[in-house]
Amino acid sequence: MSGRIPREFIDDLLVRVDIVDLVDSHVPLKKTGSNYVARCPFHSEKTPSFSVNRTKQFYHCFGCGAGGNAISFLMAFSHLDFVEAIEDLAGFIGVDVPREAMAYQQAKQDYSALYSILEQSAVFYVEQLRSNSEASVAVEYLKKRGLSGDIAQEFSLGYAPNKWDALASRFDNSLLLDAGMLVSKEGGGVYDRFRGRLIFPIRDRRKRIVGFGARVLDDTLPKYLNSPETSVFSKGKELYGLSELLEKSAKPKRILVVEGYMDVLALAQFGVFYSVATLGTATTKTHLDLLFRFTSEIIFCFDGDAAGQKAAWKAVQEVFPCLKDGRQVRIMVMPEGHDPDSLIREQGSDSFEEKIVNAQAMSDYFFEYIARDIDLHTVEGQSLLMTQAKPYLEKIPAGFFRGMMFARLSRESSSSLLDVLEKPAMLGGSQKLNYKSSKGSAKGSPVRIVVAHLLQNPQLIDAFEQRSLDLSEMNFPGLDVLKEVVQAIDEIKPSNSAVLMEYFRGKPSEKVVNTLINWDFFILNKGVEAEFLGAVDLMLQQLEEERLNGLWDKEKESGLSAEERGLLGRLLVRKK
Ligand SMILES: [Zn+2]
Repeated sequence: MSGRIPREFIDDLLVRVDIVDLVDSHVPLKKTGSNYVARCPFHSEKTPSFSVNRTKQFYHCFGCGAGGNAISFLMAFSHLDFVEAIEDLAGFIGVDVPREAMAYQQAKQDYSALYSILEQSAVFYVEQLRSNSEASVAVEYLKKRGLSGDIAQEFSLGYAPNKWDALASRFDNSLLLDAGMLVSKEGGGVYDRFRGRLIFPIRDRRKRIVGFGARVLDDTLPKYLNSPETSVFSKGKELYGLSELLEKSAKPKRILVVEGYMDVLALAQFGVFYSVATLGTATTKTHLDLLFRFTSEIIFCFDGDAAGQKAAWKAVQEVFPCLKDGRQVRIMVMPEGHDPDSLIREQGSDSFEEKIVNAQAMSDYFFEYIARDIDLHTVEGQSLLMTQAKPYLEKIPAGFFRGMMFARLSRESSSSLLDVLEKPAMLGGSQKLNYKSSKGSAKGSPVRIVVAHLLQNPQLIDAFEQRSLDLSEMNFPGLDVLKEVVQAIDEIKPSNSAVLMEYFRGKPSEKVVNTLINWDFFILNKGVEAEFLGAVDLMLQQLEEERLNGLWDKEKESGLSAEERGLLGRLLVRKK
């Protein structure tokens, strides 16, 4: 939807901003040595392990592993998406974000017309609820459900008159059609989608109306009707009540996910303002990612019946890939025959909030559910639990929580932790040499050390290129990333690591780059360049060693050509 932001602009931003100032304006920093430190804003800790480096222009937490450049910081700290973070960063420096594509302006205009017609429709419906005598049945219904005029106003509730052309006769029909407010007749012509219904406007988190939900006031079916998917409305992305919730609290302690519009309203009426509802669809990962931008704890409310159980399990499955450390999910199952609306009405908000706080942790729910029909006293049962649970746990992002879930699986299935754990991923293939830097903090193959140095100090490229190595001739594990990094530095000539890091955002090598860029070297006497060249030598030595071994093997198996024999000789001489 957004126009492309020119690459050069982003790089320029990363050069002009000082990450120390930026972070300091959100998290006060203290200077120690060449770094600035603070208690990490991304995990809870007593002693500071969050550090910001002015030279490299990035931050890193030794506790939780969070790290990145100024853009990553804003994305993580302020829960922004990439474009929003660029916009914020530009604002921090005081410049406007240029856009490349002309199409962007065009698209923006089209959507603004859609947003505007949706807003006008909402205003019309609100007005109808107030003044149309036909709406008294809707007003009665709201009163019967115990909802006050304040709540009706806060959520902009409205009434759609029971006419075929209430909207169609008032507003531009082609816009109404695009906005999903009209239905086309088969033989031509249009009519209002919502008629004789109570209307719930759905806002996105930028407070724009993107669609509507509508409830009948008699026995007509379906009971609830939603806007269809349009250019501005997608059920899998929006959540009812989120915009209203964020008005009250930008960072709620927790968010409750319920099933219906009326649940959200009833809870708000009783002071539980922090609930949202999915729009007649299952909870998606997109929903969860969105919610976790604003809170660290999500509680799902489900009905106690079989359908509710099924929905809960489905939601749990979506949750696993979102469970980074520090995020919590709980499952609250309603007592038989209740939904949140009826329960809070019957028991009051104190008792309801107590139930929220005591809702079952997702880990407990998961192990209870998955083992419900398994006899864990038998070896067969234990191995069944292992096979069934493991694929889910493998979806959890790396971190303490993942480790603890595997530890629990090992306990529950009475297996050793080693059997449960996945094999650690091979980092760079076979590595015979292990390089240790001065104090032994960074370990890895020489090629990874070379890459890490280049990422952290792009200016080392000069020293590297003075060695005149022909990388295209070489081939061993981990070399691809080195080639990519060398090429990137040659291409964009980054002024600092942050710019280089940005280049890799979204690329397949992003993850390994972010790991290596945060490697901690303790460079004492010799200086960075000497360390770096030492690593380059080790890398070449490893390369030779591998070539040597290859030649030996070939000699034993099929014999060497004269040329190869010469090479073997030279390599052996050098080795001495
Ligand atoms: Zn941390």
